[in-house]
Amino acid sequence: MKEIILCKYGEIALKGLNKSTFESMMMKSIRRRLKKIGEMKITKSQSTVYVEPLDESIDVDEVVDRLSKIFGIIKLCRCCVVEKTMEAILNDCIEYIRDEMESARTFKVDAKRSDKKFPYKSPDICNELGGKILQEFPHLSVDVHKPDVIVTVEVREQNAFIHAGKLDGAGGIPVGSSGKAMLLLSGGIDSPVAGYMMAKRGAVIDAVHFEAPPYTSDRARMKVEKLAKIITNYCGDIAFYCVPFTEIQETLRDKCPEELFTILMRRLMMEIAQRLAEKNGAQALVTGESLGQVASQTMYAMVCTDAACRLPVFRPCIGLDKTEIIETARKIDTFETSILPYEDCCTVFTPRHPKTRPTLEAVEKAQALYDWEPMIQKALEQTTVQMIRLD
Ligand code: ATP
Ligand code: MG
Repeated sequence: MKEIILCKYGEIALKGLNKSTFESMMMKSIRRRLKKIGEMKITKSQSTVYVEPLDESIDVDEVVDRLSKIFGIIKLCRCCVVEKTMEAILNDCIEYIRDEMESARTFKVDAKRSDKKFPYKSPDICNELGGKILQEFPHLSVDVHKPDVIVTVEVREQNAFIHAGKLDGAGGIPVGSSGKAMLLLSGGIDSPVAGYMMAKRGAVIDAVHFEAPPYTSDRARMKVEKLAKIITNYCGDIAFYCVPFTEIQETLRDKCPEELFTILMRRLMMEIAQRLAEKNGAQALVTGESLGQVASQTMYAMVCTDAACRLPVFRPCIGLDKTEIIETARKIDTFETSILPYEDCCTVFTPRHPKTRPTLEAVEKAQALYDWEPMIQKALEQTTVQMIRLD
């Protein structure tokens, strides 16, 4: 049976004069994501995008799955397309809606008629189809206030669309509508979630990863590349920068007070990340930090880190518990990869007693003991970049 998917907008519908800019960004994401699946007709009208597979062989489950990861879409309706006659409306959709109807106890029919020439008015369609459904599924009863399932019939110019129930979309606003951010991406659980959350609010994501070979392995880097790949499902293509950080870390270990190692390392990471951001048009930094999670994420430590930053640092996980971050990581499918046990540059040379209440004065004094600029320059020169693309 021929199917069509209706994508309903969320917040975009409220964007007033800017609405069309948001719409075109979302249309671009939709086209990009469906390009490889096959030929499709994609149109929009009245805060809905219509996606119509034109080829029988297209896997509609796959289309729905991809659409469910596009920010800006709040609900998806997978509909069957039937001929625009009352007879077809009554007979052709019954098999299509069978699963939903069998697992429900109550329902109602909702009819919309954008073709006013159709000889039956909306209440007539509701009555007729409601009667037919009651006859086919005698266990059901009608509840117009709080039904388990709403069967919707839309009579349009060419055909009628019928669906029973909506699926949740990804919500948020379209990627590209809120500028570009540089995500500090480790191999952990939190930073991929942070990237996802910023993309959900419309940011284009670039990612930077610090590695410390030979203390960290190729496998550790490949794991981070894989995480970046997984989040492209939501964020779209990601420019991925990989910075060699060994020399800076060894120098920190040899020359600086041990209890300030982590905080100084984080300041130097931020310095490099913001130079990459500035050079590549990103307006902010993003990390996966959560308040109080570890010594470097106390408010005192973050004050010292932020003092090294010219760009704003966004920390979308700041108020989330680990269990909440994990819940999102599972939802976006990064969790199983994040927990693979490879070392991260943050976990080599970790001090035994990191300061949880560093003062900015002590931190700046320790950092000033050494000229980091040549090492920063060298790390930047040796930074590699690759485009991680959405399949
Ligand atoms: P995650 O689970 O994302 O690794 P975490 O709880 O392990 O976070 P930290 O290791 O303290 O926390 O790192 C805090 C944040 O610093 C990370 O969320 C990430 O944004 C950034 N970060 C840490 N290590 C790296 C790295 N090797 N490369 C890039 N960013 C990093
Ligand atoms: Mg980590």
